[in-house]
Amino acid sequence: MNFSETDIETLRHAILQRETTTRAVVESSINAAEKLNDTLNAFLQIDRAGALRRADEIDASGDAKQSLAGVPIAIKDNICVRGLQTSCGSRILGPYHAPYNATAIERLNAAGAIIIGKTNCDEFAMGSSNENSAFGPVRNPWDTERVPGGSSGGSAAAVASGIVPVALGSETGGSVRQPASLCGIVGLKPTYGRVSRYGLVAFGSSLDQIGIFGRNARDVAEVLKVIAGRDEHDSTTADVPVPDYTSEIGGDIKGARIGVPRDLFGEGLDEEVRASVENAIEAYRDLGAEIVEVELPHAKYCIAVYYIIATAEASSNLARYDGVRYGFRAEESNELRSMYRRTRDEGFGAEVKRRIMLGTYVLSSGYYDAYYRKAQQVRTLIREDFLKAFEKCDAIATPTTPTPAFKIGEKTDDPLAMYLNDIYTCTANLASIPGISIPCGLSNDGLPIGFQLMGTYWSESNLLRLAHAFEQAQPFTERPRITAH
Ligand code: GLN
Repeated sequence: MNFSETDIETLRHAILQRETTTRAVVESSINAAEKLNDTLNAFLQIDRAGALRRADEIDASGDAKQSLAGVPIAIKDNICVRGLQTSCGSRILGPYHAPYNATAIERLNAAGAIIIGKTNCDEFAMGSSNENSAFGPVRNPWDTERVPGGSSGGSAAAVASGIVPVALGSETGGSVRQPASLCGIVGLKPTYGRVSRYGLVAFGSSLDQIGIFGRNARDVAEVLKVIAGRDEHDSTTADVPVPDYTSEIGGDIKGARIGVPRDLFGEGLDEEVRASVENAIEAYRDLGAEIVEVELPHAKYCIAVYYIIATAEASSNLARYDGVRYGFRAEESNELRSMYRRTRDEGFGAEVKRRIMLGTYVLSSGYYDAYYRKAQQVRTLIREDFLKAFEKCDAIATPTTPTPAFKIGEKTDDPLAMYLNDIYTCTANLASIPGISIPCGLSNDGLPIGFQLMGTYWSESNLLRLAHAFEQAQPFTERPRITAH
């Protein structure tokens, strides 16, 4: 079966009709993962034995009725899967193997999904290019000289190249939407509190959220339906009913109001990206949507605010990696403090150290008021901008990224240029609202371009419905150079 073109519904139909077996589906996915890993470096661990065992169980039970039964899925390596490694793309976790499942993983297992492996990512999800992984960069399947985006680059590359139909990533400031855009696939960041963070390794706890990659909105909806909802292990999950996201897809979108914040279409935005996103907005007009102008006056501060709040939270969360509790410990330390110091010095990469130092600085006495408190105040203003804008519209459209995929090495010496990649995405994390990236075209160099829709709290259904309507009107049928089949 050719996964590069297969959606979940077709795959499930083939299994239910016994046109194929779950084992055959999973085997073909694993073969593709193994074959492409030399080129893409998308997987840090492939679980052939475990995945085939689960596939056989489903085949033997003769009951493949659960909504994701037999669907291969890849999981970012900062989400705990019992028995598999959780490296977070870092050396400091050394040989850590998770003794428990994240709640999202428990729910995927219960729905019959089959985890085929753990995907490469920027160290502790800090990055926009996957070059900060301790295990080497992931390559973009559209052009292997280019980055796939980050930090969930391995999951994005695995879906884009057709190894798996869907994958989980995580978002703190755009790590699902940005790589989705650079790899020509759909990526959703749900509302903060929609999906449990239990078992997701913490980066910025007030921003983190598990997200979903797929090649179309419907497949993303299938997965969201399974993993969303209240979880007693995560007190920040909300007790808001989980809609049937797939059945709410479809129908026309006449009268939907799409807000466009023109001020954000200015400096630094690549011309081809601008044209492609404008074209997507016009497609909505043709579908009967009403296009309205909105303003997000404080959005221009989002990078500054994000890189204060995210680093502050990271400096606190990453204090636990001390050589005692998990994974790696530096050798030849005969005294506690030098053991901590050497473990952290050898175990963390440069970007993680930069964030810990920045975060410690903005929280330190004397600087707290000027940086951290101020950033929290501006965060509130950003959130209020959105709530005001959503009085006038149902979703806000922007580019997902300022440019298509850049070259490996192009921005590694310039952290600020790298951080500017998040300019369209990190506002949604700061405001706790959902956002989705949808492919809308190719650049002259043959690189995918994506646009973003953001909605108010709990409006994932609406975003998925709008994304689906666009896919019907302007199907994105291009495929990357490197594919699985
Ligand atoms: N690129 C952003 C960062 O480096 C976002 C990362 C993320 O969403 N995990 O922090």
